Parts: sequence; structure tokens; C-alpha cells
Amino acid sequence: MPLYILDEDYTGQARCMLDKVGNWNFDIFLFDRLTNGNSLITLTFHLLNQYGLVELFQLDMIKLWRFLVMVQEDYHSDNPYHNAVHAADVTQAMYCYMKEPKLAKSLTSYDIILGLLAAATHDLDHPGVNQPFLIKTDHYLASLYRNTSVLENHHWKSAVGLLRETGLFSHLPPEKSLGLERELGSLILATDISQQNEYLSRFRLHLDQQSLCLSNASHRHFILQMALKCADICNPCRPWELSKQWSEKVTEEFFQQGDIEKKHNLQVSPLCNRETNSVGNIQIGFMTYVAEPLFTEWARFSDTRLSQTMLGHMGLNKASWGGLLQEQMSASEEAELPTPVPKDGDSTGMTEGTSSKEIPQGSSQS
Ligand SMILES: [Zn+2]
Repeated sequence: MPLYILDEDYTGQARCMLDKVGNWNFDIFLFDRLTNGNSLITLTFHLLNQYGLVELFQLDMIKLWRFLVMVQEDYHSDNPYHNAVHAADVTQAMYCYMKEPKLAKSLTSYDIILGLLAAATHDLDHPGVNQPFLIKTDHYLASLYRNTSVLENHHWKSAVGLLRETGLFSHLPPEKSLGLERELGSLILATDISQQNEYLSRFRLHLDQQSLCLSNASHRHFILQMALKCADICNPCRPWELSKQWSEKVTEEFFQQGDIEKKHNLQVSPLCNRETNSVGNIQIGFMTYVAEPLFTEWARFSDTRLSQTMLGHMGLNKASWGGLLQEQMSASEEAELPTPVPKDGDSTGMTEGTSSKEIPQGSSQS
């Protein structure tokens, strides 16, 4: 029955897009519009079916559909960034990574279903504010999870709640479904960005020592954690037109938090002040200190065309933000200067500094 519902909801174009779901330039925003805001349900359902996981794990279609609807609904559609479209985007990226040769030949069906479900649920019920905000406002989640990985623990527990409520894995032996829930947690908890350095050092050490052995289940699990971490922060590695939209959305979410902090006379969190930060400077910092180190190691692990494409986009996007920043700076400098007296043949008063007006690199490719 749910298949018919799905068929009715599919527009021809959305269906067409799913044929290319493994493309790195997949436009999730367009896909979300074509599916009437149901990108997360549609994409995850499609991928689970494509891998044959529904038959393999003998999933009940109605339970699965209900689960996915509830997952999508538990994302806050009023969050500018941490909403179901971000979850769908991360799921699509996770699929791209799991398709990479090294992973494709070693991952088991169990790894794949885990990877897809973790991606789809990794930010479930995200409140649109960060952990420091929850701690300083004495939010119950902060005390519940003792101020550690507060959000990630909540995403995981919310996912477990929906799995149990829908009974998606209730036909499996308890030790199997409990194991699945535990591993789902370990994947989701890996997305805590404050743990980035620990994961990165471990990854580096493995790569330096060439000690990864993907026939080993715990090593495969570690690679799934790294893949999910990459998928979660892959926005800077997408083509400019997609990347730019994500950057604007995440910045707007930060700024909204800053607005609430100002309103309640709380100290405004770093990156959250719309008066002192801009999309460009936040992005350049994020790429330099967080994304580049991670994707550089990922490219060492999976030295493929996709990895090179991602690093290439990141370089271009960084240059584009740099160009736009320079443009803004020179524009505001000009605004502060007294209006130049127009000379003959130079009514703009701009004979110098034209280099800052060059078109940012990467803006033409989409
Ligand atoms: Zn996320």
C-alpha cells in the first residue's frame, strides 16, 4: 500500500532525479520541492529499496513508511538549517561515500542499513540552537545528558524512540535490535564536532600505519563514523550554487540564536552575532579549521575522483567567499570615504583597487 502512495507523490521529475541519486551535484533543494517537502522520506525509502534492504531485513513496508514519516516530521521545518532537508542531504552524501570502491566492496548489508538510518536520523528533533546555549539556559536536555554530546544523545534517543514506537525491528531477536540501536548511537555521537580532533587523530594514525583492515567489523564501523562525519559537514565540498545556499542557511540559524541571546541579555555565542560576523568569514574559518583537515584525510583513505572533486569544490568555494568578502570590504571602505569629486572621464572615482572587483572564482560553475 505505501508503494502506491509513494507512486502518487512522485512527480516524473523527482523520479528522474532518483536515477542520478549517486551524483555529487545532486540538487537536494530541487528534489525537496519536487517531492512537496518529502525529500527525506522519499530518498531514504528509495535507497533502502535500491539496496534490497527491505527484503533482506524483512522490513514491514507499512512500519517502514510510518517510521520515515515520523522521522521527517520530528525535524523542525522552521529551523533554517537543521531540518529534514539537511538530513536528506547528509543521507545522499552518505550514499555517495558508501558507493566508493573501498567501502562498496567491504560493507555488509548491516553496515549499509545502519549508515543510511544514522544519516537520516542524525539531527532528529534538533532545536536549532547549540549545546552551549542549552547549557547556559539550563535546558533539561543539558542536565539529562550531563552537558556532554547533549544534542547528539538526544538525536540518537529520539531515533531509538521512533524505532521502538513503530516496531520497525521488532521481528528481530532482541540482541540484534539492541545491537543495532547501540551502533546507531555510536554513529550519531561521532557527529559531535567537539570530538573532531579525537576522530581525526585516530584516522590519521590508521592511515599513517596503514592499519585499517575493512574485513574487521570494528574498523568498518570506524570508517562509517568517518563517512558520516564527512557527510554531515560536506556542504563546502558541493558545487558553489548548492554550497552557498547551505552556508546562508547555517549562518541564519547561528544569527537567530544570537538574536535570542541578545534579547535575554545572555552573552552572544561565537559566530552568532549578525553585527560582527558574515557568511563569508564564518565559511572561510569553517573550511580552514574543520572541513579541510577532515576531507584531506578522507582523500588519503579514499583516493578517488569524488574525493578530488570535493576538495576541488572546497578550494573554489573558499576563493569565492574570499572574493565576496574583499568586495564587501572595499565597498564599505568606499562608503566611509567622502564622496570623491568626479573628474573628467572618471565619474566613479574608482581608478584604484579594481582587483577587488574581480568575479569570484567558482561562481560560474554550477
Ligand atoms: Zn547534521
